[in-house]
Amino acid sequence: MIQVCPKDMPAIRILPDVVANQIAAGEVIERPVAVVKELVENSIDAGATRIEIEFRNGGKSFIRISDNGKGMPPDEALLSLERHATSKIREAADLNEILSFGFRGEALPSIASVSKFTLRTRAEGWDHGTEIFINGGKLIHKKECGMPVGTVIEVANLFNSVPARRKFLKTDPTETAHITYTTRLFAVAHPEIAFHVVDSGRTVFQSPSCSDLRDRIGEIWGRSLADDLIPVEAEDSSLGFRLSGLTAKPGVGRSTRRELITMINRRPVDSRTLGFAVLDAYLGRIQKGRYPPAFLFFHLSPREVDVNVHPAKREVRFRNDAVVRRFVLGAVSDTLSDAAKPASTEKASVPEVTPVKPQDETVEPTPIKPATTPTPVPRVVPAPQRSSKTKVPVARVLPVAPQPPKETALPETEAEPASAKAPEWKLLCLLKQRYGLFETPRGLVMLHLRHADQRVRFEQILATFDQEEAARQQLLIPIPIEFEPLASEALKTELETLNSHGFEIEEFGRHFYRILSVPDWMAPEQVEAFVRDLVDRFRQRGGSRKDPKLTWELVARLAMEQSYQRNDNMSHAAAQKLAETLLCCETPHTSPSGKPTFSEISWSEWERRFGN
Ligand code: ADP
Ligand code: MG
Repeated sequence: MIQVCPKDMPAIRILPDVVANQIAAGEVIERPVAVVKELVENSIDAGATRIEIEFRNGGKSFIRISDNGKGMPPDEALLSLERHATSKIREAADLNEILSFGFRGEALPSIASVSKFTLRTRAEGWDHGTEIFINGGKLIHKKECGMPVGTVIEVANLFNSVPARRKFLKTDPTETAHITYTTRLFAVAHPEIAFHVVDSGRTVFQSPSCSDLRDRIGEIWGRSLADDLIPVEAEDSSLGFRLSGLTAKPGVGRSTRRELITMINRRPVDSRTLGFAVLDAYLGRIQKGRYPPAFLFFHLSPREVDVNVHPAKREVRFRNDAVVRRFVLGAVSDTLSDAAKPASTEKASVPEVTPVKPQDETVEPTPIKPATTPTPVPRVVPAPQRSSKTKVPVARVLPVAPQPPKETALPETEAEPASAKAPEWKLLCLLKQRYGLFETPRGLVMLHLRHADQRVRFEQILATFDQEEAARQQLLIPIPIEFEPLASEALKTELETLNSHGFEIEEFGRHFYRILSVPDWMAPEQVEAFVRDLVDRFRQRGGSRKDPKLTWELVARLAMEQSYQRNDNMSHAAAQKLAETLLCCETPHTSPSGKPTFSEISWSEWERRFGN
């Protein structure tokens, strides 16, 4: 079948308004990367499975996008250059439904109005293609040409005819960086499409079509980043929301947000709503000021989102921001919590607190030394119900594991998991009394002993909140403690919470209290100062709302802050144990105040550094 382009195609229909197009170009095409973006979007819309992007001088002097999409028959090719000509929208009602990238029908005429523009295209079923050449909005020629099915668009001398715009362009390297970044986004959004990006004759990246997002990320950003990601998959069918993709493992952070990438219905967009929801999910899970790399695809009904807030379509607006935010935050948070859990073979779910000092495990409730004695000789009164806790697996315990008393002995299998993890991280040496250097299957890890210890201690104390009966140590001689009236009030409101979690503090007169027992994680000689500090914190926090869990968090935080002297001269065994315990924590990567607990350099990173 040979079809011939109608000779009488009225030229008047083409580019009726160069000025309007140039104005539109000002909005849609701010810089070379915008041209790339519009053209690649068109190629994707045209069903291409292979897209080649070439450019020179940051796209200022030359951009060429070639695709193997469905192409255009001759008359359509001419029409595509008319303002508001678009094949993608037939009537206004479609506006909400439109899934394809562009629908304004503005891009091609806008670009053609501010450059030397060549369109070559051939549709399926035609034995020749069409070449149209336009310079600064003026049609120079239209002729047949030979080419495979698909479309090739060349844009040369961008903004040459509009010096005012040209002035605003940045240096070549900057414009190049924008183009490279944008093409990477497209490649990630569409792993099924093969991309080849060429800057001044040099391949920037080339990625064949692949079915796996992780592979694609590995090809473009490097394997070590790809390995640092875990899958996210969440759906709410009643809302019509779905979130999928890959996100940073807890603790993996970058110094910029450039690798925090979100797509909405597969369109790369910078959405504040999505970005903040993801960042919130990582609060406390990565260091402050760092950003998690993530490649997340958010899908929702096109009716729920307005993608055309901005002419260049970089912003989106959700119909219901808060709902989207909650969904995304929840989905990512859940993923991270799951990831932080130990291997599924472990039955333990709550890290149980065990007394810090092994010799503390005594079977008989024997009141011990006076509180004033500094020596930490046996002083524990195990909670009477201790043996009833045998149902709680003591999997993840403490730096120094005591021999459990017979009554509380646990089945071997349940006591094992922590040590089963031991081979994963092998302590090589202790350094400067502050660090432990470990070898792991993935690389070398430097552990910050104090931060790690704080994290472990914090979570262990937090975990006692959920225990029915916290282990406590009874003081031989109760400690009297007096407060001024406001402080006394503050303590009084929290007394119940404290007393149900290992403390035993009773009111003893006006603003006068007695401390009878302390939780078994606390050194009795510290308790008076501790309670005073704690009351200060209660008062600083202010407010009358009573939330036992928050109160307990304050307790854990204070205890953690005061724990740091403990690591001087830590033994090898204790450091090894600390690492194992840390790995069982819910949030192992940061201390409770957000500082990193360890830093890993992967073997692949070593290889990279040695140029292999
Ligand atoms: P829009 O994408 O908003 O429709 P454009 O100006 O970007 O507007 O493109 C106009 C029309 O040209 C498109 O609707 C499409 O029919 C056609 N077109 C543009 N680029 C291609 C391409 N690479 N392959 C096939 N058709 C294309
Ligand atoms: Mg378009």
